[in-house]
Amino acid sequence: MTADKTPAEINSNDKDNELNDAFFMQRAFELAKIAEQHDEIPVGAVVVYQGKIIGEGFNQSIMLNDPSAHAEMLAVRQAGKRLDNYRLLDCTLYVTLEPCPMCAGLLVHSRVKRLIYASPDLKTGAAGSAFNLVATSQLNHQLEVEQGLMSVECSELLSGFFKRRRREKKALKKAVKKLAGNTDKNS
Ligand SMILES: [Zn+2]
Repeated sequence: MTADKTPAEINSNDKDNELNDAFFMQRAFELAKIAEQHDEIPVGAVVVYQGKIIGEGFNQSIMLNDPSAHAEMLAVRQAGKRLDNYRLLDCTLYVTLEPCPMCAGLLVHSRVKRLIYASPDLKTGAAGSAFNLVATSQLNHQLEVEQGLMSVECSELLSGFFKRRRREKKALKKAVKKLAGNTDKNS
């Protein structure tokens, strides 16, 4: 996001940072696709420290019977173990969908420095869309937030997933109805 910087603030590092951001969001996107293969809502996240991925996660709430098993939660847990620290100072979290209130709260607690997310979640997003928990002065930590990187790809992955799921539900309903009709005729 160099648009609102003065020319003096734009240095060669910005180009490197942009390339890195694209690389890490691409990895989060791949993780989101793994979630989809497991019939989970396709969201992926990575935590990066000093240019290296130290935590990865994809949505696994259904698989693990765990409502807290969001991509960000799993990535942050792994990063904490890796750093042997409950604070993720100077870390950046990349995620394909704007964090929910639970995960936004987690990011504040974990002291992640930067949050970069792809698609906004207009209904329940807590990094500026429906709420803003990551940059509120009432909490004791605020994150730098950037939005928009790979948002088209990540949004399409999500909308494709929900479309397919609606279609499958409809087909299942139809099949059940047909089966019930056959049972009626047989009785
Ligand atoms: Zn969440």
